[in-house]
Amino acid sequence: MTGFIRDLLGKMMPPPGGIDCGGVLAQLYEYIDEELDDPATVEKIRKHLQVCKRCYPRYDFEKAFLRFVSELGRTSAPAELRGRIFQNILEEESQN
Ligand SMILES: [Zn+2]
Repeated sequence: MTGFIRDLLGKMMPPPGGIDCGGVLAQLYEYIDEELDDPATVEKIRKHLQVCKRCYPRYDFEKAFLRFVSELGRTSAPAELRGRIFQNILEEESQN
């Protein structure tokens, strides 16, 4: 399937949860941190993530990463080590 046809299908199909990928990704951090005030938005994003193969891996990664960072914060790992781990993750991501 070419990118063109995929874009066309994407435009014809209503986005899952009634919110598109851009909207989900823009609020992903707030969603993970449960900082979204609007329960309807939370519900839309939750539904979207259940079905969207593009956003879910992203959500999963960010969630794991944020948890990882907060664990590091708690165990007060040296800043230099934290920077190195972060760098490793970035490099791994860019290889995918
Ligand atoms: Zn999506």
